Amino acid sequence: MIPGPDIILACPHCDALAKLPTFDAIDPTGALSWTDGFQELPDCPRQPNVVRCQACAKLYWLAVAPQLGFLMPGEVGEGERAAWNGVPAVVSTDEAGFLEAIRDGMAAFPEQELELRVFAWWRGNDKHRYSKEPGRFPSSPEAVANAERLIVLAADGDHELVLFRAEALRQLGRFKEATESLYGLCSDYTLARERQRELIAAGSRDLEVLFSEETLHRLAAEQEAAENA
Ligand SMILES: [Zn+2]
Repeated sequence: MIPGPDIILACPHCDALAKLPTFDAIDPTGALSWTDGFQELPDCPRQPNVVRCQACAKLYWLAVAPQLGFLMPGEVGEGERAAWNGVPAVVSTDEAGFLEAIRDGMAAFPEQELELRVFAWWRGNDKHRYSKEPGRFPSSPEAVANAERLIVLAADGDHELVLFRAEALRQLGRFKEATESLYGLCSDYTLARERQRELIAAGSRDLEVLFSEETLHRLAAEQEAAENA
């Protein structure tokens, strides 16, 4: 990972400064895709969408925060920009924060509500990602209600949303609907579809790794070998 500039933002509620670290290059080594569609890059902090201000504790969409400027890696701000030195980095929010954002009316239209619900679901699933315990699916009443609403909002969506929806249905144990929702996927998603079918056939509701970088390299090599045969 090669760091890029730190973007200096102001909280839309109280004007407190925060910095958003950016990256010029990202190393895909060790990338993992999960059955809920979350993609993980071990050496790369996530780019947040909703953050909590460290001064006033309110949530805001990063996209609406005024950008005051930036500091290059290693640069020390001088003059008017001296206030930018030592500004705290933005803090991503968690499952409870995304659900709070929905309750607070931060979703202005259905696509934003769906985005907040997908992120609430992912952050709720985070505690299960490296667990071997059973029960790796939403179980609290809020998490279940969130997944149910996500399923409604993701109906008639594009392929990525079809996968999110199938996975949420599977995690809730609604296997028949999960199977039916997979019919809408095109052949680009064969790997994900087959993995979902295996898990549904096994009666599993658990979050799993969908594929790793190694899997993708192996499949690409197999495909190349098949084409050259
Ligand atoms: Zn604030």
